[in-house]
Amino acid sequence: MPDNAAERLDDVASRVRVCTKCELCRGRTLAVPGSGSSSAEIMFIGEAPGWNEDKEGVPFVGAAGKFLNEMLAAIDLTRDEVFITNVVKCRPPGNRDPLPDEILACRQYLDEQIEAINPRVIVTLGRHSMARWFPNERISRIHGQPKEFGAQLVVPMFHPAAALHQASLKSTIEADMLKLPRFVAEARESAVDDEVEEEPEQLRLF
Ligand code: SF4
Repeated sequence: MPDNAAERLDDVASRVRVCTKCELCRGRTLAVPGSGSSSAEIMFIGEAPGWNEDKEGVPFVGAAGKFLNEMLAAIDLTRDEVFITNVVKCRPPGNRDPLPDEILACRQYLDEQIEAINPRVIVTLGRHSMARWFPNERISRIHGQPKEFGAQLVVPMFHPAAALHQASLKSTIEADMLKLPRFVAEARESAVDDEVEEEPEQLRLF
């Protein structure tokens, strides 16, 4: 296995592009492994590639992607500074929701991407990625509220496409996005605190 994050992501991407582990491989034009920085502090996980993404092999390039780019700019970030992917890497036919067995088949790739990047904050976009960390929860109840899972802070958010269908959600999504810099700062502080707490243990070893 490659030993640095960028090589590990490349390795995942090369396997995703030829993957036939679920039925979604049959209808895809291009698989969409994900894009962005291998050292990103924030990782966004959406649901599945759509029509545009399937043609280009890049996540979030349609109207929802444009909205995501605008929101990133509002917190002084570009797509190159975060990592963006989906729970399934190939487009479901007719843009239907990904099925549980498809999410399960694709899970290994997402696991490897999270492990390689080890982001401070994971933002789930939409209910399918939220369900991995918050099963049986309703996004309308918990959006924008972070919860710690191991080394990561996970923040559920509405999918940007939701704002295209329901204009009233736009300000909700924007408000949640504006909280992210604070969550990243808190996650950094928490990591420093953990290191300080671990120090006496290390001293005892020598
Ligand atoms: S969706 Fe995931 S598991 Fe299914 S074929 Fe594409 S890469 Fe493979």
